[in-house]
Amino acid sequence: MDNRILQTILNNIDDPGLRKTLSNVAGGNIVAQVRCLKCKKVIAHVYHDGQIIEVKNSDKSGCLSSRKRFDGYMGFSCRCGNWSIQSKQEQGIMGPDMPSKEDLQKIAARVEQNPSHYTKENGATEVDGFVIEDFKE
Ligand SMILES: [Zn+2]
Repeated sequence: MDNRILQTILNNIDDPGLRKTLSNVAGGNIVAQVRCLKCKKVIAHVYHDGQIIEVKNSDKSGCLSSRKRFDGYMGFSCRCGNWSIQSKQEQGIMGPDMPSKEDLQKIAARVEQNPSHYTKENGATEVDGFVIEDFKE
């Protein structure tokens, strides 16, 4: 598409937040979105540099936190209560504090014995109640 036409379309969007988001999508800055399967909403955007920025739908829908888990997949916490911050290998070992060396060794052994396998289908990866949906180039 002609960039001038695209820019005109974007300039016609009244909501400044939506205009900025769509400009980031059009410019390739946002590469994926995160959908919560409990509240069914898009709760975050993933930027090309890996940053995850909340899309707050309401007090009960939006990304409260995210982290790269030790099983290699991203975990999320949604305002609706849906939660995948810890992988199954971390649960029962990781607490709210920094894990100890022994904790990390236990988690590493669990990941080695029973690695997580989530596959991408049509650009979407479902992990423990959340879907990361890639935007097409
Ligand atoms: Zn949710």
